[in-house]
Amino acid sequence: MPGKNLSRDEAQQRASILAVDGYQVRLDVTSAPDREAGTFRSTTTVAFRCSQPGAGTFLDLLAPAVRSVTLNGRALDPATAYDGARVHVDGLAAENVLTVEADCAYSRTGEGLHRFVDPVDGETYLYTHYEPADARRVFANFEQPDLKAPFTFTVTAPAAWDVWSNAPHENVTEQDACRTWEFAPTKPISTYLTAVVAGPYHVARDHYRRELADGTTLEIPLSAMCRQSLAPYFDADEILGVTKLGLDFFHEEFDYPYPFGKYDQAFVPEYNIGAMENPGCVTFREEFVFRSKVTDAAYEGRANVILHEMAHMWFGDLVTMRWWDDLWLKESFADFMGSYGLIGARTRYSSAWVTFANQRKAWAYRQDQFPTTHPITADIRDLEDAKLNFDGITYAKGASVLKQLVAYVGSEAFFEGARRYFKRHAFGNTELGDLLEVLEETSGRDLKAWAAAWLQTSGVNALTPQVTADAEGRITELAVLQDGDVLRPHRIAVGLYDRDADGALVRTGRIELDVTGARTVVAEAAGLPRPALVLLNDDDLTYCKIRFDEDSLENLRSGLGDIHDELARALAWSAVWNLTRDGLMPARDYVALVLRFAGQEGNIGVLQSLHAQAKTAVDLYADPAWRGEGGRLLADGALSELREAVPASDHQLAWARFLAQTAGGAEHLGLVRGLLSGSARVDGLEVDQELRWSLWLALAAAGQATDEELAAELAADNTASGKRHYTQCLAARPTAEAKAAAWSAVIDSDELPSALVEANTAGFSIPSQRDLSALYAAPYFKLLERIWAERTIEIAMRIVGGFFPIAQADEQTLAEADAWLAGHPQAAPALRRLVLERRDDLARALRAQACDRI
Ligand SMILES: [Zn+2]
Repeated sequence: MPGKNLSRDEAQQRASILAVDGYQVRLDVTSAPDREAGTFRSTTTVAFRCSQPGAGTFLDLLAPAVRSVTLNGRALDPATAYDGARVHVDGLAAENVLTVEADCAYSRTGEGLHRFVDPVDGETYLYTHYEPADARRVFANFEQPDLKAPFTFTVTAPAAWDVWSNAPHENVTEQDACRTWEFAPTKPISTYLTAVVAGPYHVARDHYRRELADGTTLEIPLSAMCRQSLAPYFDADEILGVTKLGLDFFHEEFDYPYPFGKYDQAFVPEYNIGAMENPGCVTFREEFVFRSKVTDAAYEGRANVILHEMAHMWFGDLVTMRWWDDLWLKESFADFMGSYGLIGARTRYSSAWVTFANQRKAWAYRQDQFPTTHPITADIRDLEDAKLNFDGITYAKGASVLKQLVAYVGSEAFFEGARRYFKRHAFGNTELGDLLEVLEETSGRDLKAWAAAWLQTSGVNALTPQVTADAEGRITELAVLQDGDVLRPHRIAVGLYDRDADGALVRTGRIELDVTGARTVVAEAAGLPRPALVLLNDDDLTYCKIRFDEDSLENLRSGLGDIHDELARALAWSAVWNLTRDGLMPARDYVALVLRFAGQEGNIGVLQSLHAQAKTAVDLYADPAWRGEGGRLLADGALSELREAVPASDHQLAWARFLAQTAGGAEHLGLVRGLLSGSARVDGLEVDQELRWSLWLALAAAGQATDEELAAELAADNTASGKRHYTQCLAARPTAEAKAAAWSAVIDSDELPSALVEANTAGFSIPSQRDLSALYAAPYFKLLERIWAERTIEIAMRIVGGFFPIAQADEQTLAEADAWLAGHPQAAPALRRLVLERRDDLARALRAQACDRI
């Protein structure tokens, strides 16, 4: 649709002549419980000034119908003013009042005002999600981050509901089984940050109080909510506890009182992302409400997200990027603060930097090696570009680079810079230069060269140690070699590790230095005894791939699990995984390392990523001739570790799940069935609802779950989550009919919410069933452009990614992908980007297979 994909140029043009004084937005969602009702009434009145009277402009709006448009008392004909994406107005005055009355659509895809009906009790729940540009699906507005304004929301909803928005409500009136909620005006914020949550949500309330330096007291009402049917599982005390620790911490670090009054946190159904930092009204995916046992890694992950969103209240909400090019300004910072805050706020998650090094950075390394990678400060031409930029570069690489910046300028200069930034730009918009300006002031360093190397170029460097030693075993020279298209300044620590009396690999030396250029000599190392292991980037200060010298690698093969320090061990695990992905270590060698040492891995998050990576190694990176044996080895390993694990421990649960993911043979599947029926037990392992579904998925994929059995499980767990698992199990059955049904459910109808699209594509794409899914490679490439044109971008992204025939992992599929790319140079750039990335995954798999082939 013309005008839907707002461009940077258009946004700049609009901002150059407009200033917005405020919005009044009235929504009437009383129709929501009526499933036949597809729309709700939305009325926007926006007051704005124009520096060029007589000029024209447009409001963004994606609505089925516009009822009226009134500019400065003059009624315009909606049929001519509204083109399906924009409301055009001309003849602007210096001061204007524009009212647009529309019928907007309830969303099923999580974009705009999402409506969800709970299968448990039939209750209806609503929430909004907008970033980057879906507020226009709910009310007419100038949809760009730099036209900030105060928003005053009024929402009419069923009388039994509660309604929340960014600001607290000032008044509630009841009439005809409806209640009308009038909210206070917000502070000046961007359109994408506005929010409404409405429904019969279960609420927990609390309060935060803090004495400020000026002698006043800051009071922040807190609440956390979820659907009623999740209330028995809602650990609001834990959530609000982390919230209060975070508020303490950020007030100490940022020295700027929380500016948005109250702090609500809503856990909402069918959410497409982790969470969204709407000021005063944060939304989270409700999978963070754990209805079955999860490992501590999941609690840590949730606490990280709580702090990430809270950091955004300052970085992103108080001070906002001017346009999506500088999305990193808020996301890199919040991503960094998620981990930094877990430690600094003294939560119980003391391994946050281990998780960051091992998991968050893996996302960055993967993304940064795609042909589509980009500098952290990106070139975002339009909204489709913006949508794809919520990626491993903007988040994880950006956060890694900020971690390196802290090592480079020191944490005091970094945080003093942040404090000045908030005060200087409060309620405004910024670009890269504004951040560099304050950091240069506080660090006394010229950061332009640093920014050019780290923020304005793309790609990851590999650092390799080069060690020579004399006949007595003393180092004669230790040098650090740097590879990559762009060589960067790296502040790193070099760790030297040797066996102690108990056989553990412990650090015997640490040398911190600046690495620049292609080869840097570590002068301090000369004369030291040659260690068993040289670990570059020890303490994970910089962003790079770590390589090893030959001796160190040999010692890792026999002793990786003996590294005593969990961060150093996590770095070693990451490094051997990167070697595997790069085709420098055979996949079966990586699998052997996991089978040998995963059982002694103490960090549960690292263990769970080892499980996922070992499975990928077998499914994609191993010689196809070895896949069967590799799969059996993983399942055998899972079974024996499950039996060894401490009863009722997180590790036991992780191994049980890994067994479900790898089970193939009669012995494993027999145990799986026994655990489900209760005829088999593993001491301390509770087979709760989520684990039951993992076990059913194993049986379904093996063709050993009947339709009746799966239906009976759904009947016993007739919830949103149950429905998702059931859908995935049906799609995972190893029959042509099951694949056809899953394909058709997604492709031939646009009724499915994103959660069920994902459930279908995940079940469809079981790697071991590649013979069945192979038939769909050709139709997939034929359909791509149609899907991109017809579906919302959230759904289209899931289809393009989820049905890509990655599991084929063969030359023929690579040729098909290349043929599509060659034949569709004019396809939407965002679509081409997704296909290019999946194509690159496939090419990488083929290189790794070649390395693994004996
Ligand atoms: Zn964020």
